[in-house]
Amino acid sequence: MNVPSAVVFDLGKVLLDFDYGIAAAKLARRGQLTAPQVLQTLSQSPLLHRFETGLTTKEQFAVEVCAACGFSGTVDEFYDAFADIFTEIRPMTALHGALRAKRIPTCIFSNTNGVAIGHIRQRFPFFAHFDHYILSYEQGVMKPDAAIYAAVERALGLTGEAIVYLDDRGENVEGGLVRGWRALLHETPEKTIPTLGQWGLPVG
Ligand SMILES: [Mg+2]
Repeated sequence: MNVPSAVVFDLGKVLLDFDYGIAAAKLARRGQLTAPQVLQTLSQSPLLHRFETGLTTKEQFAVEVCAACGFSGTVDEFYDAFADIFTEIRPMTALHGALRAKRIPTCIFSNTNGVAIGHIRQRFPFFAHFDHYILSYEQGVMKPDAAIYAAVERALGLTGEAIVYLDDRGENVEGGLVRGWRALLHETPEKTIPTLGQWGLPVG
């Protein structure tokens, strides 16, 4: 097998940890629902899925969630509470830095939304330094739909085993494996980084 040509990173739980429980607690403090009810509204209603496939604007999403939660703050306070849920997974952002230092092309491949990405751009400098960004809300389609994997291949100009892909969700990894990508279920940096090293990538 040749050394891979590019590395594709899922964002949530690979480069950034996140906890919607933080947002739920903040929204519940100034709303009509309990924190677990807010969490359910955020994560299990169709609202977030519609937002992350680009079917809803951030303004519509804010109005709908604030109404569902009886949130009494401003829209900007809602965005802050909703987005400030991330912490950097440093061994993985260091891995990205090591690949970048050796000019290996890298890509962010994420089911996400514009409010989260706006916050992440401001808060996490590493995020600016990828060659490509394939984001569900811009593509109008979410992983594991094949169409968004095809968008990654077009952006990279690569297919098959030239592409390494890290994701923490099995169904997303499967979407890469069926295309012949070297897709790896990311569990911990301690497991993932040596595997990339075995594939010949400069992991630091
Ligand atoms: Mg993830």
